[in-house]
Amino acid sequence: MADLAYRCAACGGVNRVSPERLSDRPTCGRCKAPLDLEARPVDVSDDALERLVRSSPVPVLVDFHATWCGPCKMVAPLVADLARERAGRLIVVKVDTDRHQRVAGQVGLQGVPTFALFRGGNLVKVEVGALPRPRLEALIAS
Ligand SMILES: [Zn+2]
Repeated sequence: MADLAYRCAACGGVNRVSPERLSDRPTCGRCKAPLDLEARPVDVSDDALERLVRSSPVPVLVDFHATWCGPCKMVAPLVADLARERAGRLIVVKVDTDRHQRVAGQVGLQGVPTFALFRGGNLVKVEVGALPRPRLEALIAS
């Protein structure tokens, strides 16, 4: 079985973990912090996002949101569910578009929430709006 990949919430490093080591409470190879195996989506900066997209061996789903945005809050638990269900095979992060606008500009952000899928360093697809679960799953699968 292929290695799984987890982003360290402490230092941002991407860690490959073999499935049989998951029960050993794996820690980050760089900073030794325990890896969050539930892969809870955390907020990242433009710089951290660009590093992640370049280095991740698994697809990266980005939730572009804003703290004042009601639909963003509404869809957040669903995004967290999808991140947990696909932990190790997908990395989900959030970007606060009031604080970080560079990558949002690159994907042509038109509103929040917006979801963008990256694979192999490339932008694969962008979808705008608080998507229902089937649309989010289709985006991840694209
Ligand atoms: Zn780390």
